[in-house]
Amino acid sequence: MSEVNPLLIAFDEAPFSQIKDEHFKPAFLAALEEARKEIEDITKSEEPPTYANTLEALEFCGQHLDRISSVFFNLNAANTHETLQGLAQEISPLLAEFSNDITLNTDLFQRVKEVYDSQEEFHLNPEQITLLEKKFRHFTRNGANLSEEHKKRLREIDTALATRKLSFGENVLAETNKYQMHLKESSDLEGLPEGVIEAARQLAESRNKEGWVFTLDYPSYLPFMKYARNRKLREQLYLAFASKGFHGDELDNTSLILEIANLRYERAQLLGYDSHAHFVLEERMADSPEKVMEFLNELLEKAKPAAKKEFEQLQDFAKETDGITKLQKWDAAYYSEKLKQKLFELDDEQLKPYFKLENVLNGVFRVTEKLFGLRFEAVSDVEKYHEEVITYRVYDQEGKFIALFYADFHPRPGKRGGAWMTSFKSQFQKDGKNHRPHISNVCNFTRSTKTRPSLLSFTEVTTLFHEFGHALHGMLADTEYPSHSGTSVYWDFVELPSQLLENWCYEKEALELFALHHETGEIIPMELIEKIKATATFQEGMATLRQLSFGLLDMAWHGSDPTNIKDVKAYEAGTFEATQLYPDHPETCMSTAFSHIFQGGYSSGYYSYKWAEVLDADAFAYFKEEGIFNRETAKKLRSHVLSKGGTEKPIELYVRFRGREPKIEALLERAGLLKKTA
Ligand SMILES: [Zn+2]
Repeated sequence: MSEVNPLLIAFDEAPFSQIKDEHFKPAFLAALEEARKEIEDITKSEEPPTYANTLEALEFCGQHLDRISSVFFNLNAANTHETLQGLAQEISPLLAEFSNDITLNTDLFQRVKEVYDSQEEFHLNPEQITLLEKKFRHFTRNGANLSEEHKKRLREIDTALATRKLSFGENVLAETNKYQMHLKESSDLEGLPEGVIEAARQLAESRNKEGWVFTLDYPSYLPFMKYARNRKLREQLYLAFASKGFHGDELDNTSLILEIANLRYERAQLLGYDSHAHFVLEERMADSPEKVMEFLNELLEKAKPAAKKEFEQLQDFAKETDGITKLQKWDAAYYSEKLKQKLFELDDEQLKPYFKLENVLNGVFRVTEKLFGLRFEAVSDVEKYHEEVITYRVYDQEGKFIALFYADFHPRPGKRGGAWMTSFKSQFQKDGKNHRPHISNVCNFTRSTKTRPSLLSFTEVTTLFHEFGHALHGMLADTEYPSHSGTSVYWDFVELPSQLLENWCYEKEALELFALHHETGEIIPMELIEKIKATATFQEGMATLRQLSFGLLDMAWHGSDPTNIKDVKAYEAGTFEATQLYPDHPETCMSTAFSHIFQGGYSSGYYSYKWAEVLDADAFAYFKEEGIFNRETAKKLRSHVLSKGGTEKPIELYVRFRGREPKIEALLERAGLLKKTA
């Protein structure tokens, strides 16, 4: 019996109730074919290439495929099961192949290049210029302009890099899994919380051992370093953790690092860039390695005095407490935790009653209503993929429809961990119509029970605001092209709306709107808020230095010619000098397990954690100056940043919003770093 595949009919709201697993594969295959045909229509066109028949046509290629992909991959993240996971394995290579075929399509590139070379003829607006440059660079950054011989070398490098990165990650994983610390004496567990001990006991049991087992996995490693009183054991576990991939055996990563750094450098040179970092940063707000270095060094100079003071305080505390004369890295977490407990007594359980999920969600709606005049209307006529999903239609002040919003808050089997924002449909304009987006927030918050509502920890509260900030970026999008819409911005700019929104969680005026005791209705006492703030900036100087040390190490590996580096440890030690507080240990090496930059996508990008903080602090300082609910400031944020997505360079959008470039002072002030050095 043949039935209609709902994914093959054009749809607006995703028709979840009609979609069955077996619909996906045929839908993907058909949509891929359709998309290939659309590409062919462009390349085979008899017309001379124009902006409209080439760039715009390319931008709207595969729209149907995109819709099916977003439904499929969102479900695979939020509500998956074995069949979907299996399908993902089958479908992902097909999508990768399709996108490769576009990148390597020389006829297509020729047409794009012709438009690019004669762009004056087309009188393009700024968003169109951005699209043209972006598409053109997509080809050239993948070698489209190279000679056949160099193209071949580029492919070799890419293959070599892929295998080296994979091996790097496999080695780190093998090192992590290989190690265990097996304890047999209960006296060795002194200081550890019940739950941690129980987990270690269960782990031992699962390995058919008596006693307790600790490993290098974070959930096992971190609590041990934080709470275990036995200093020798902390040293042992720390050294195992900090020497992953650095034992001179078959799992050693030092030569892989040198190979990766050199291959990346060669690739960048081949494409005409000074270094890998120059290549990466071309498509970032930070723009160039020089700017990143300037940024990191400025922050270092400002944070270092505070960090030194904090380190001295910690050292004094360890000496007073246990007579430690020389503080070591394996003491850091332990004494920091003790000091924190001594300075502030703050327990998450004290806060939770004020943060009932429904109240917090209402709070974020109220905040956005006050700022942007948005109204969230819960609706029951929108299809959803799980009964726990809540759906809203979002309207602006004039009652105009803005977006569809899905919220999916609680954990369940089949949902991956963490919290994220995603979209089922991006905003774009076509044929005179503004197509509004369908945005979703997915989280893993504690659910309610029969006797207790869902009460959020403060971290969960800021997470909700964070993800909602991303969602606003998506919902308020008002661009012409889908690939510029919402969060489709440079990587070091994407966290601005999300981190910015978190700031309201610390403000009295905002908290009064929603932080009400779930039983008594009492507003959260301000002294609790002050404590939250103080804990949040505890040892911020040292934390900053640590982040900067990673950023500097990343830039050291990728910002210049690595051909002459022979000794990984010595090279790393050199870059750490400026940020070092604790004594170095010859057995340890950070680079050999620095998966962010050698395996994941953070190479030349580690700085962006701090970069994003500078942006959000600077932007929020503007709200503080004008009033945190000032409609004019909010309007500027909406019209210059939130609605603009990736239509222009972030720095230009930001300056239009703020009236100037971002400064680091607001972050230093918020982090308490100015106060500490004054
Ligand atoms: Zn984020």
